[in-house]
Amino acid sequence: MTIVARPDIEIAKSKTMRVVEIFGPTIQGEGAYVGRPTVFIRFGGCDYRCLWCDSMHAVGQQYSHNWAKKTAQDILDDVAALTNGKPILITISGGNPAIQQLEELLTLGKAKGHVFSMETQGSVSKAWFSLLDQLTLSPKPPSSGEVTDWSKLDNCIKAGATTDMSLKVVVFDRDDYAYAQDVAKRYPNLPLFLSIGNDDTDPNSNVDKEALYAKTRQLIDWVNADQWYNVTILPQLHVLLWGNQLGV
Ligand code: SF4
Repeated sequence: MTIVARPDIEIAKSKTMRVVEIFGPTIQGEGAYVGRPTVFIRFGGCDYRCLWCDSMHAVGQQYSHNWAKKTAQDILDDVAALTNGKPILITISGGNPAIQQLEELLTLGKAKGHVFSMETQGSVSKAWFSLLDQLTLSPKPPSSGEVTDWSKLDNCIKAGATTDMSLKVVVFDRDDYAYAQDVAKRYPNLPLFLSIGNDDTDPNSNVDKEALYAKTRQLIDWVNADQWYNVTILPQLHVLLWGNQLGV
């Protein structure tokens, strides 16, 4: 018997995305849209393994049995159930969401009035970045254990050129701070946000907020000592409000 290829079936399969969780409405806790009400969609899979990753449940293959395969319409139905059908800012997160194919989700979602913001480390570029309303590129500093491929980050910046784009660097120590300064020098025309890293990644632990406040004050001191006046320092607002709790 001859088996006939069914490209239509292949395409249908490729339209599902690996979804870890969809939750909200909550608020965006960091970056350019900090404080804005939003629903989060967290996609599964990542090409990085940051030492302090706080989203390993969306990274490690050992968790992939918990990831659901959903179409764009499934995802938008889930969002509608959370917002009573009202359009909202949708924050796309991961993992590295750039490894997914999100054109259909973005196109259908925008037609429903949603606004899309995404954060990625800038290691994978996609043409569909141009469909986003906002793109945060968050290259990972030395403390992550990962090494930035600047040409890949350049490609992401080109792919997102038509969006409201900004950079974000998480700072754990002085080496990370020097890395953030390198990022600012490389991309002087993009807004840059700095936030203090939280290396307590246990979702059940009480975050040491006093330590985070102290580190934030120290970062502010470094920035002011360097007269670095076109950078923005923000705490991770969601960590201050809810600690490491997942799904808020
Ligand atoms: S890029 Fe983000 S999701 Fe991926 S391992 Fe690093 S911190 Fe975790």
